[in-house]
Amino acid sequence: NPAAQESWFGHPRQLARLFTTEMWERFGFYGMRALLTLYLTKHFVFGDREATGLYGGYTALVYLTPLVGGWLADQYLGFKRAVKFGAILMSIGYFILCFGGESARPIATIDGQRYAVQVDQSPSGGETQYLIDNGRRLKIQGQEDGSAALVAADGTVARTVAPGKLVAGGERSDLYVTIMLLGLCLVSVGNGFFKPNISTMVGELYEQGDRRRDAGFTIFYMGINLGSFLSQLLCPFLADAIGWWAGFGLAAAGMVFSWALIQFDGGKLNGYGEPPLTVRQGGRDRALGIYALALLGVPIFYLLFINLMNATPPAPGSGIVGYIASLSLMGKLLFGTFLIGVPAILIWSAVKGDRREFQMMLAAMVMIVFNVVFWTLFEQAGSSLTLFADRNTDLSVFGLFSISAGQTQFFNALFIILLAPVMSALWTALARRGLEPSVPVKFAIALVGVGAGFLFLVWGASLAGPSFKVAIWWLAGLYFIHSFAELCISPVGLSMITKLSIARIVGMMMGVWFLSISVAQYVAGIVAQVASVETVGGQVTNLKVSLDTYVGVFWTIGWIAVGIGLFLLVLSPLIKRWMHGVK
Ligand code: GLN
Repeated sequence: NPAAQESWFGHPRQLARLFTTEMWERFGFYGMRALLTLYLTKHFVFGDREATGLYGGYTALVYLTPLVGGWLADQYLGFKRAVKFGAILMSIGYFILCFGGESARPIATIDGQRYAVQVDQSPSGGETQYLIDNGRRLKIQGQEDGSAALVAADGTVARTVAPGKLVAGGERSDLYVTIMLLGLCLVSVGNGFFKPNISTMVGELYEQGDRRRDAGFTIFYMGINLGSFLSQLLCPFLADAIGWWAGFGLAAAGMVFSWALIQFDGGKLNGYGEPPLTVRQGGRDRALGIYALALLGVPIFYLLFINLMNATPPAPGSGIVGYIASLSLMGKLLFGTFLIGVPAILIWSAVKGDRREFQMMLAAMVMIVFNVVFWTLFEQAGSSLTLFADRNTDLSVFGLFSISAGQTQFFNALFIILLAPVMSALWTALARRGLEPSVPVKFAIALVGVGAGFLFLVWGASLAGPSFKVAIWWLAGLYFIHSFAELCISPVGLSMITKLSIARIVGMMMGVWFLSISVAQYVAGIVAQVASVETVGGQVTNLKVSLDTYVGVFWTIGWIAVGIGLFLLVLSPLIKRWMHGVK
């Protein structure tokens, strides 16, 4: 086959097609991610608690669905069809975010004059509506005679409005929230079909034992970050310059491009990502039924979102039981699956495997548990760190120009692109001297690093001065440290799973790896909720209080991660022994 001989940077030329397809998909995903939290807080004017909780739940679902999507592709669809289907769902999801929310901002009108309205959810479930007037927050109190009193923070009545003149709760009808949530549901389901299967197709390009495989995945990881780098600059730019719809629209366009690249591949991917033999040899092709069933995920996820939004924090002093009881249904399902699944798989391996296999599985599971801690901190990027950038960061670059809060997310992608080649050269150089750190030691470095990144930012915050704003370089520094840490855990972890797992269940173990990231996303949402600050119309009311709140949370999670990282370092010789020489 002469086509197969043509190569791309010394790799099968099909890698180029998969690289660009994934690049444009990540372009869409990270472009959307750069906007979402700000969209929820500024456009929908959700309070911080609601916005970050929603964001955590959404990203948890995004990382949960690959478990099912990977399995369905294995059994029935084949990877290529799964990727195409996922791409279509994700495109529709982004388009819904683009068109569905543009007039969703809640407003009130008084004699035709428009005011933003903020709706605050109280822990007991009640709602308070505030009208935003010149940066002041006025509580709307309906009176018996149909007039309304607008009450300021100090309790004085700032204004009364004659009966019938105040039309509140205007345009953010629940319909817009519903439409936006449906968009998020579609992206979550679509990602389950897309993300795991495009990676598997990369794996298919190499024969077993082909030494280019790891390098191929490194190139692929560069594609991921190239896509996210570009969109994290462009989508927030368009959102600012034109409107939210334009930012989400560009994300959607990227996703359509990704779909087109794989749908119209000109035969370049023939023979890759095909359905399993049973289907190809005239077995029943269940594709349409599977697509229909997958769409059922949309209303189910929607209900989970509604439940999540209505979940109330536990009353102070209600203890661990109260805490668990107060978790949303989504949270209970995620934690439940993880806490039952991990021991169940271990018991299975103790029964079915020999001692060596069991110990290797045990090592993998211990690392998977530590993995939760890493991503819980790392994934503050899209929520609390973006809000921090918006509120307590001086975003000017050398006093020449300013970037926007959403754009600060591009630092991670930039540093990955710069650091990935350096790090792989470093590991090779260390390995040549017999000094390459073991996998658990790399994980420990990652945990200390992700914590240290936050402590670095806290140090910067102590120098913030009377503006209560930190220079952007401190945030860039955090992302530099986090990117270094990511490279110690993310690629290392994926390849570790394939090597330590009992071969028969390697697919499921990959699913457990993603499940641990999903749990982390959910916990990350809870952490970001703890860092909630009071806002008026999406703007914080007190910069000092908000800086103190962020510093308090970042300081705490920073030290916790450093502590857990050091604990893992102590455990690492034991875990290394369980790994039986796997590198
Ligand atoms: N940034 C990488 C990606 O989007 C890895 C993210 C992750 O595994 N949590 O693919």
